[in-house]
Amino acid sequence: MRPPTGRSPRRLMTSPEPAQDQTPARLAADTDVLVVGAGITGIYQLFRALEAGFSAQLLEAGHGVGGTWYWNRYPGARFDSESYTYGYLFSKELFEEWEWQEHFAQQPEIERYLNHVVDRFDLRRHMRCGARVTSATYAESSGRWAVETSEGTEYRARFLVAATGILSVPYFPDLPGRQSFRGESYHTGMWPETPVDFVGKRVAVIGTGSSGVQVIPAIAGEVASLTVYQRTANWCTPLNNRAITPEEQAQLRAGFETMCETLNTSPSGFLHPVCDRQAFDDSIAERLAFFEAMWDSPGFSKLTSNYTDLTANHAANALWCEFIAEKIRSIVRNPETAERLIPKDHLYAEKRPPFVTGYYEVYNSPNVSLVDLKQTPIVRVTEHGIETTDGARDFDIIVWGTGFDFGTGALSRMGIRGRRGLALEDHWADGPKTFLGVQSAGFPNFFFPGGPHAAAGNNPRYNGDQVDFITGTLVSLRDRGYDTIEVDPADEERWTSMVDTGAAASPFGESSYFFGSNIPGKPRRYLLNSGGRPKLFKEIRKVVDNDYEAFRLSRSSDPAEATA
Ligand SMILES: Cc1cc2nc3c(=O)[nH]c(=O)nc-3n(C[C@H](O)[C@H](O)[C@H](O)COP(=O)(O)OP(=O)(O)OC[C@H]3O[C@@H](n4cnc5c(N)ncnc54)[C@H](O)[C@@H]3O)c2cc1C
Repeated sequence: MRPPTGRSPRRLMTSPEPAQDQTPARLAADTDVLVVGAGITGIYQLFRALEAGFSAQLLEAGHGVGGTWYWNRYPGARFDSESYTYGYLFSKELFEEWEWQEHFAQQPEIERYLNHVVDRFDLRRHMRCGARVTSATYAESSGRWAVETSEGTEYRARFLVAATGILSVPYFPDLPGRQSFRGESYHTGMWPETPVDFVGKRVAVIGTGSSGVQVIPAIAGEVASLTVYQRTANWCTPLNNRAITPEEQAQLRAGFETMCETLNTSPSGFLHPVCDRQAFDDSIAERLAFFEAMWDSPGFSKLTSNYTDLTANHAANALWCEFIAEKIRSIVRNPETAERLIPKDHLYAEKRPPFVTGYYEVYNSPNVSLVDLKQTPIVRVTEHGIETTDGARDFDIIVWGTGFDFGTGALSRMGIRGRRGLALEDHWADGPKTFLGVQSAGFPNFFFPGGPHAAAGNNPRYNGDQVDFITGTLVSLRDRGYDTIEVDPADEERWTSMVDTGAAASPFGESSYFFGSNIPGKPRRYLLNSGGRPKLFKEIRKVVDNDYEAFRLSRSSDPAEATA
């Protein structure tokens, strides 16, 4: 048994560390349901729990609500999902009263939206921001969770729901001298609330993943110089964002029910129509025209509406990649820079494809330069800048677009202790083990919607499926006089091996962060749900139809439970 320290062996997160308070924690609340995380998943879970008549409280480490959309406030941060397909669908009134300004909203609008939801449904009084959970311990004698926070408070709850996010623990590469830099330094996933002044500054951006390629064009016009440090070139395609016209607003309102039905049954949770052809069904001319249409299409439709064999057939994928490569060559005037921006080590969607607005164009500006870290790796960060094998450059600001400890990062750092003191990070030492991506064996009454083994497209859609399942489960328990639920290890094993086996057929390669590959020492295990949303639906239905047979239900007053 390990003590509940709330710390993980890998120390990646540099957001404020929990205060190590020696004095006994003050009991702040005792509720039926305690939710951790005020992102889109946690807010929804809080709403549903209260609506179902449970007492509920939410704790959030950040000083405001929004989760991803609170922390990632860097210039250029915006949706890659269509705004109206990402927002909540549980209330038609909410949908009608919130008019998204753009098809792909920017961070400030998203943060405003989530705050609006919190106030609209009177949730704020059940929330505590600035409270990082440092430990959560299951007491077998009472069947309740005891949760401690960085504020030195304790919360107790029958059910603990960690909606702590898959992309909420920023990752910094372990580079010598990183702390010695005397200029300003920001991670995109921990951006300060006070806007950063880039005007006339010498700026370095490290990383060209989804966040890096958003921030680069957003600041390129303001800075004196911008040096982009690229480890991996990515297949970036245009987001094709635009304002939502008044006619489209009216259509969205009128089509609400149809849209919900499409989204609620879509495998990826998007509205994009599915293609009916494989790449080689078309003639060369037809294929080129189709690829042009894809290039001009919005966001993720380049993946979800592309040829049906795009990710399964390497030859088909290579054609699409060559099409994108030609686009890059036609936009970027310097041929050497263009070649460096074209991925050579993976096909389209083997890594999460980023979407961009004016990204390749910035490399035509005289103040922007690209450093290929595969050719000239970073040796160290100095007091004044960055040194590669090619020499040192000085900067005023370094932006770290270096990603996150995906999937398991937050849950492994929360100090979760289940039966007999079992540490979640130990149970998951070789990779997460879950059932439906909501529960783990040995951790009764503990759920983690929006965590590993669940993700399969447009996040709020399947996270919402999980929250609805959890809430329905709690109601069912209450109705039948049970108060304890724990997944059977055999079902945990079944779901986990479904995920692992299906990973081979997933479009994503092992070099993708969806396998944890960006974090040194992290086990290479698939962190998404390779069965996709249809598998999640099917299994949830099966669980409910079979009276929760995948779970052990009990009463805390049962002798077996009390002595377990
Ligand atoms: C820049 C960026 C853009 C994205 N764009 C899209 C997109 O367009 N479409 C899409 O589907 N997905 C997108 N994602 C994924 C995104 O994370 C999800 O869409 C969604 O926001 C997840 O919501 P969540 O509530 O599950 O988690 P989060 O929004 O990550 O919220 C989790 C919250 O839990 C809190 N927390 C964690 N640990 C603790 C603790 N110990 N104690 C207290 N609080 C804690 C965190 O502070 C955080 O606020 C994007 C992610 C990023 C980083």
